[in-house]
Amino acid sequence: KKVADRYLKREVLGEGTYGVVYKAIDTKTGQTVAIKKIRLGKQKEGVNFTALREIKLLKELKDPNIIELIDAFPHKGNLHLVFEFMETDLETVIRNTNIFLSPADIKSYMQMTLKGLAFCHKKWVLHRDMKPNNLLIGSNGQLKLADFGLARIFGSPDRKAPELLFGAKQYGAGVDIWAAGCIFAELLNRRPFLQGTSDMDQLGKIFAALGTATPSQWPDLAYLPDYVEYQYVAAPPFRSLFPTASDDALDLLLKMLTYDPKARITAQQALEHRYFSSAPLPTVPDKLPRPA
Ligand code: ADP
Repeated sequence: KKVADRYLKREVLGEGTYGVVYKAIDTKTGQTVAIKKIRLGKQKEGVNFTALREIKLLKELKDPNIIELIDAFPHKGNLHLVFEFMETDLETVIRNTNIFLSPADIKSYMQMTLKGLAFCHKKWVLHRDMKPNNLLIGSNGQLKLADFGLARIFGSPDRKAPELLFGAKQYGAGVDIWAAGCIFAELLNRRPFLQGTSDMDQLGKIFAALGTATPSQWPDLAYLPDYVEYQYVAAPPFRSLFPTASDDALDLLLKMLTYDPKARITAQQALEHRYFSSAPLPTVPDKLPRPA
């Protein structure tokens, strides 16, 4: 039985934030796809129209480092989003202790991540939920960002960047860069960086690692809604947190984890950082290590 007269349903791939994801065959193209079924629940009709309009914009976001949204349609009270099918994701790669990630491999993953971000930021679209399991990896090693823009449409954005933890209502592309910096750190150390159990705990972990944020380095800080003054904690040497990282990697990472979002490096600037042009050069995607 075909869904929407086009997709042949296969097995369930998993359950995500918004609903079930299943594998399917697109009979129009023969391509394997992943269909994300989003429960719309008892929302007002208008909300669904808004969602569909925004989804339409996401369909226009086409780039080699962004998962293509092939189709979107409502069916039996659920919104179905059809994406290209991907073999694995970066979280699986990071957690697989049988996979050795060389400095060149890490550079390759970061370059593909930042290319995807730079493309979307240029079109004023934020991801807002950057995490290793949203960075999908295809059979050819290509990394592509998944779930672009969905956090804004369906809720549950990530609260990792300091400006979000201080309650900023207006924020920008910097939130994705901060999150990408945390992914960079996770690739280097092979374990989650600054993972808090609550917003307060999260902030404490950030301050312990990077030193307390102060109005002198971040002038807008004191005007954020949830700002409270913190006891000053000095940062340990940044290098001590990443014993295996090169000086270039460390320099870029520090620029991505800059407190003041206005001073934080942009995706385009990050791609132009010498880290990407100095040796070792990024591994070509089809030479990246893969799970056995
Ligand atoms: P979450 O909301 O937790 O990020 P998702 O809804 O994105 O989870 O995904 C749920 C499951 O479906 C995961 O196991 C993920 O690996 C799988 N999945 C999501 N998108 C794709 C895709 N394009 N290709 C293959 N598997 C996918």
